Amino acid sequence: MIWSFIKIALFLIIVAAATMGAAYLTEMGDGIYIRAFGFEFTPPPLMAVIGVILLFVAVWVVIRVVGLVVAFLRFLNGDETAISRYFDRNRERKGYQALAEGLLAVASGEGKLALSKAERAERFLDRPELTNLLIAQAAETAGETRRATRAYKRLLKDDRTRFVGIRGLMQQKLEEGDTETALKLAEKAFALKPRHVDTQNTLLDLQAKTGNWKGAREVLQAKRRLGLLPKEVHRRRDAVMALQEAKVILDEGASIEAQEAAIAANKSSPDLIPAAAMAARAYIAKGKLKNAARVVTKAWEAHPHPDLASVFAEIVPDEEPLARLKRFKPLLKLRPDHEETRLLRAELHIAAEDFPEARRALGDLVESHPTARSLTIMAAVERGEGADDAVVRGWLARALTAPRGPQWCCDKCQNIQAEWGPVCDNCGGFDTLSWREPVQGAQPLPHGAEMLPLIVGHVPAPRDENGEIVDDIPVSPDSDAALEADLFAENGDAAKQS
Ligand SMILES: [Zn+2]
Repeated sequence: MIWSFIKIALFLIIVAAATMGAAYLTEMGDGIYIRAFGFEFTPPPLMAVIGVILLFVAVWVVIRVVGLVVAFLRFLNGDETAISRYFDRNRERKGYQALAEGLLAVASGEGKLALSKAERAERFLDRPELTNLLIAQAAETAGETRRATRAYKRLLKDDRTRFVGIRGLMQQKLEEGDTETALKLAEKAFALKPRHVDTQNTLLDLQAKTGNWKGAREVLQAKRRLGLLPKEVHRRRDAVMALQEAKVILDEGASIEAQEAAIAANKSSPDLIPAAAMAARAYIAKGKLKNAARVVTKAWEAHPHPDLASVFAEIVPDEEPLARLKRFKPLLKLRPDHEETRLLRAELHIAAEDFPEARRALGDLVESHPTARSLTIMAAVERGEGADDAVVRGWLARALTAPRGPQWCCDKCQNIQAEWGPVCDNCGGFDTLSWREPVQGAQPLPHGAEMLPLIVGHVPAPRDENGEIVDDIPVSPDSDAALEADLFAENGDAAKQS
């Protein structure tokens, strides 16, 4: 609205100015004097201005007409550029039409048709970046891998299409299972476009698969720098990889770097249990026992965990149970009500043969959260206090069918792993393991174990010919002791190492 008002106002101002100018010129009287071809001429000023304008218009019209005539004459003379331009335009039109049809064919999955259209487009068009791309895609759709490879290689020659070419070749190598070449191509693609999320992920994946942790950490760093990864996630993943890097070095026997790398991993993420355990072991190997204890204590404060307890025990491997109990005191004080702390305290007291104290440490765990471990500890307490064998066996039988408690579980596929690792053994997921209780039903019970409490509870004690009770209950007699030993070996941790 305002704009149209302004336009109208401007128009009125121009008209007014023109009128005033004309009136001024009319009043000027004799202004211009022209003498030409023997004539003398004194037009009034207004006429002179109009005359000049008309002259300009006439000259412009003449120039245009001459140009048109020349163009027409050149066309009649069979000017080559004019004719070829006409045909070029025709070729271009055909080329783009073929290109469009080819794209549609690719989209509808008609590989062979797309390929023939792509070839036609290539014949008519001088646009290799477009036609090669279409050929590559059409060949992929038609399943002609070699042809696609050739097209991708041609795409590498142009700066504009190099990335697409590399990506195409990389995808092909991935499908072939040629991880090594795919990794090299992914590195090149990453160098060209560090912001490309898909490339980053593919590269990280390949680096994790091939164990190139150093490279993976660099990619992670780049992701963090570009703001594509939250700080917390970066820190955690970097620690995971630093740890893995350390493990690899450790495997090769270069212990000092490994220890240092493990400690670096621990520093950047003190709540990462495996990193802390490794750092502590590195200190133990160096004889710096105080540092080892500090690392474990710090990690325990963040997250009590059996692996930490066993490293803490390793600090002084051959000590009396009572001395060990005393040495563990500061650790036990940190998170006294945590389940892991209670279990550890109970185990230490069992090792020191202080069974009532062990029972007290366990508290109501066997009722509130019965796990194989707490029930086994309970069995040991009962045996230590001289309870009936049937009672001990009852606890052990319950332990067999009870949940195993927290374990290293994959968040992606629910696989349970005995040892922590950066990559899931089952699904290959990266950084997916977490310490938690497995999802219900994820772990199968040992065969027949669900029947055990029933058998233990109901089978009367067997008697011999004389009616005397035989001191053995027929619950697969041989495996009974082995089973007990098994459970202790798996869950005994610190206590059993004494
Ligand atoms: Zn998994």
